[in-house]
Amino acid sequence: MIGFNQPLPEIITFEIRHRKYKDLSCPSKYTDTMDKSGKKDLYEAPDYYLIDDLLSEEHKLIRSAARDWVKKELSPVIEDYAQKAEFPKHLIKGLGEIGAFGPTIPLEYGGAGLDYIAYGILMQELERGDSGIRSTASVQGSLVMYPIYTYGSEEQRRKYLPRLATGEMMGCFGLTEPDHGSNPGGMVTNIKDKGDHYLLNGAKMWISNAPFADIAVVWAKDEAGKIRGLIVERGMEGFTTPETHNKWSLRASATGELVFDQVKVPKENIFPEISGLKGPLGCLNQARYGIAWGALGAAMDCYDTALRYAKERVQFGKPIGAFQLQQKKLAEMITEITKGQLLVWRLGVLKTENRATAEQISMAKRNSVEVALDVARNARQMLGGMGITGEFSVMRHMMNLESVVTYEGTQDIHLLITGMDVTGLNAFK
Ligand SMILES: Cc1cc2nc3c(=O)[nH]c(=O)nc-3n(C[C@H](O)[C@H](O)[C@H](O)COP(=O)(O)OP(=O)(O)OC[C@H]3O[C@@H](n4cnc5c(N)ncnc54)[C@H](O)[C@@H]3O)c2cc1C
Repeated sequence: MIGFNQPLPEIITFEIRHRKYKDLSCPSKYTDTMDKSGKKDLYEAPDYYLIDDLLSEEHKLIRSAARDWVKKELSPVIEDYAQKAEFPKHLIKGLGEIGAFGPTIPLEYGGAGLDYIAYGILMQELERGDSGIRSTASVQGSLVMYPIYTYGSEEQRRKYLPRLATGEMMGCFGLTEPDHGSNPGGMVTNIKDKGDHYLLNGAKMWISNAPFADIAVVWAKDEAGKIRGLIVERGMEGFTTPETHNKWSLRASATGELVFDQVKVPKENIFPEISGLKGPLGCLNQARYGIAWGALGAAMDCYDTALRYAKERVQFGKPIGAFQLQQKKLAEMITEITKGQLLVWRLGVLKTENRATAEQISMAKRNSVEVALDVARNARQMLGGMGITGEFSVMRHMMNLESVVTYEGTQDIHLLITGMDVTGLNAFK
């Protein structure tokens, strides 16, 4: 057996489109990796409908590398960091190495040049470990790299994307304001044209990665009331990022505010190609897509934990998994997870073909998070008293998902999006 501090066996590397992935898939290598308390990560992903058959060899290799990275690097430390309410910064480099930052961004800008199924798989594996770590990757890839790639100038792309892809530079995304959450169009953060620069004033709230980010993609209204996107760099005078404390959710993800007090932003930092709400909404589509896959990862981890526990925990002389009430819970969990897996796989195909609508993505985000929350709550009960401790990942997932259900559009907002799509009638106002 390999001890926690002993050297690990040699890592085989393989290349997918010039990016080196560490092939850690051999079970003997990392299944013995333990956390400080000597606990092993025994995760086995459920695949009731043989959905693996729908994946390419490349998808499976990427998944295997990400899964093993989570077992080796994330699982042994995540509980400690969540308890301390601290973001494990040392994981950033590894996240870059497994291609978690901007996986669909072309290779020439440092991305992995992968398709959307691969992107979904990466988010699922990360969130199976922890929603907070997936959030960091989602923000970096979908909310920072995506807008720079899609709306940015060639200079902006060359300047920022390669360093964001490796994690050498980290970013955050400022849309939500203290008084404008579900209704971002009401934002009051603003820019004024001062000839050779813009003057930025306002504040953003609930911003993931803000406390340590090197750059912020910020959405603000210009003098004509049009929403514009710009890149604000740490160190610009008047720009501060106070941390938000006392969260019971996403404790291993750093959240903060962005405060802009007469910040002079050079003109070359504005996105030239986009104005209006469609700019930030385009980014949210990308991130929501990743969450649709990711939240199912949290559900899969909770199900796997509950199943194992139900087979081992004995009460009244037999494993609790032999009782009908526990089997009902497990049967419902695996049914909902399987339906969710098929939904996101189909969405991934549509997204790769550039045919997925914002409404389809919205439905999948809402469904996956709802499934994950239900699975996590039931799994927690199945673990009895042990379910409330950090000995198991379940309660951490459950609390994390309370943020995932709120950010990137609440369940209510996503229901309204589907409602408007099918009726043609706007119920937002
Ligand atoms: C941990 C965390 C990280 C986050 N990270 C980021 C980030 O990186 N960047 C960023 O910009 N934002 C981020 N957010 C903000 C997040 O997107 C917002 O919290 C979310 O959009 C909801 O806004 P709000 O909190 O202001 O709630 P509100 O909009 O005030 O909503 C309150 C309640 O009213 C309901 N409601 C609102 N409007 C309607 C309506 N028309 N009909 C029916 N019900 C309605 C909502 O569903 C909700 O239940 C983050 C949030 C959290 C918790």
